[in-house]
Amino acid sequence: MAGRRNDAPAIGIDLGTTYSCVAVWKHNRVEIITNDQGNRTTPSCVAFVESERIIGDGAKNQVAMNPANTIFDSKRLIGRRFSDSKVQEDIKLWPFKVIQGSDDTPKIVVTYKGEKKEFMAEEISSMILGKMKETAEAYLGKVVKDAVITVPAYFNDSQRQATKDAGTIAGLNVIRMINEPTAAAIAYGLDNESDIVGKVNVLVFDLGGGTFDVSIMTIEEGSVFEVKAVAGDTHLGGEDFDNRMVGHCVREFKRRWKHDLTGSQRALGRLRLACEKAKRTLSYTSVTSIDLDFLHEGIDFSMGFTRAKFEELNMDMFSKCIKTLDTCLSDAKMKKSCVDQVILVGGSTRIPEVQHMLQEFFDGRDLCKSVNPDEAVAYGAAIMASKVSGGSDKSVQDVVLHDVTPLSLGVDLKGRLFDVVIPRNTPIPASNSKNYITVCDNQSAITIEVYQGERSKSTDNHLLGKFRISGIPPAPIGVSKVMECFDIDANGILTVTASIISTGKTEKLIISNENGRLSKEEIEKMVNDAEKYKLKDQEFKKKAEAHNALDDCIYKMKNKIEEPSVKKSVYNEILQAIKKAIDETAKWLEDNQAASFAELHSKKAHLEFVCKPLF
Ligand code: ADP
Ligand code: MG
Repeated sequence: MAGRRNDAPAIGIDLGTTYSCVAVWKHNRVEIITNDQGNRTTPSCVAFVESERIIGDGAKNQVAMNPANTIFDSKRLIGRRFSDSKVQEDIKLWPFKVIQGSDDTPKIVVTYKGEKKEFMAEEISSMILGKMKETAEAYLGKVVKDAVITVPAYFNDSQRQATKDAGTIAGLNVIRMINEPTAAAIAYGLDNESDIVGKVNVLVFDLGGGTFDVSIMTIEEGSVFEVKAVAGDTHLGGEDFDNRMVGHCVREFKRRWKHDLTGSQRALGRLRLACEKAKRTLSYTSVTSIDLDFLHEGIDFSMGFTRAKFEELNMDMFSKCIKTLDTCLSDAKMKKSCVDQVILVGGSTRIPEVQHMLQEFFDGRDLCKSVNPDEAVAYGAAIMASKVSGGSDKSVQDVVLHDVTPLSLGVDLKGRLFDVVIPRNTPIPASNSKNYITVCDNQSAITIEVYQGERSKSTDNHLLGKFRISGIPPAPIGVSKVMECFDIDANGILTVTASIISTGKTEKLIISNENGRLSKEEIEKMVNDAEKYKLKDQEFKKKAEAHNALDDCIYKMKNKIEEPSVKKSVYNEILQAIKKAIDETAKWLEDNQAASFAELHSKKAHLEFVCKPLF
């Protein structure tokens, strides 16, 4: 019996390092959904206490009392290995415990309901996603299944896959994952401008709670999004501004009361929350106050804070952000005058001085800030969710979005020849398959090496991974076929499937290892190298192909000569002469690995001539 279709719309979730946001397309527009505390963004924070698990605002509010069991920053861990140097650096800063689990996965250790428990980063992220799902369900009054989740542009396959897994654990069907800057550009409808001819250059300036990311993208004909360059600082954001304020208050407390607050985690925690609140207020007013009863040793603390003081305390960090723009522009080989749109993303871009400095850098141009910067990513994700699930009006369905493969993907063939299966710059999702044959008699297994790059020789490219398919039924060379299928999903995750055609046996490789992805610079280098070594590569390819062709020819003739019909119809002396010629050619090939194309070619022509009587 067919059940009633669940008609809850697909939601868009921005799973942020410090705050997350959920939105949905409803009543022909995007709605940012407020949580049970009435807030439009929710802290990406999970706390384990004696009797329960708290997610979001509640967790953040009790962090000072329960630092070892309040987990934040799971986005910095997700899809990474414990031994990753970035993870090792972060661990030093966290008040909670992270240990090395099996396969080098990091495990977060907490005490929950009086017992030690270990969680993977995916599980913590899934709890936050679950909270966002619940927030949407409370608003929509329906069970939500489908979601688009955003990830930073620089996330590799492993981090993307782990984020997707977190969605699955939360009971979500992740219909698409898109890059955060892409989502922000969609929020501004930059994908939808049908009058765009050629390319639009977009700079996304994302200053959030813990990270700063600049991305330069080009949008071609409103549909092909390409990230040209990313730059930033993984440890620069709103929390650093909060800390500077806390530092100032601590000094002030000491000056007034001769007491050092730094010994009291509880006082510092309360102060940090109050400073963050004051900081937000200072984006709209020029003066505010911080008031905390019984902050320390029974002392009530109260002090005024001006916007000017806030700016003075953080100016070096603001300047650092602006300097990064130059790096990003030069990486993208773009002048600032070529940037068509500047998009503000991240809660910290609400700070007037940040906006001011950014506008000045771009010589006074207008910035895109009509969508709230800390909601822009979720806003774009909701548009995308609606488009992918097809549940909205025509204008949204018209949005077509493609990322492209930055480098060609393929496999290693005999003689180290790289055989491209999906060429560079193919819009994704994409899939393609090719049939390959065995290279010797009775070959029972094939090792498939998957490479990424533009060079003719496999080993000059980047090895993404390898796997083996065995159980090929015994057969002469070239008879058994293995189909290799490359499939890149819309999230950029590559799955390579090999199937033995005669038996249907299948093996799979999902490219999601840490080294799977190359950085923008590495990609650029590989593309440049391909250009530089073009002639050399062509030479290599021609030679390798000639080598393989001669090798194949030798095998083919060896088999032919053994056929009973041939033995019957050809004089024995001639057969012996042919056999000798085949063996000699085989030996020559073995001894002359460095033979030139011309030599290989003429050897093959000669052998074919000699073997004519066999046909
Ligand atoms: P994330 O970086 O996790 O994606 P957001 O983009 O929501 O998260 O940014 C969160 C940061 O923005 C926090 O440090 C928060 O204090 C800061 N923030 C939010 N609103 C304001 C505001 N009005 N003024 C200054 N900073 C703000
Ligand atoms: Mg963000």
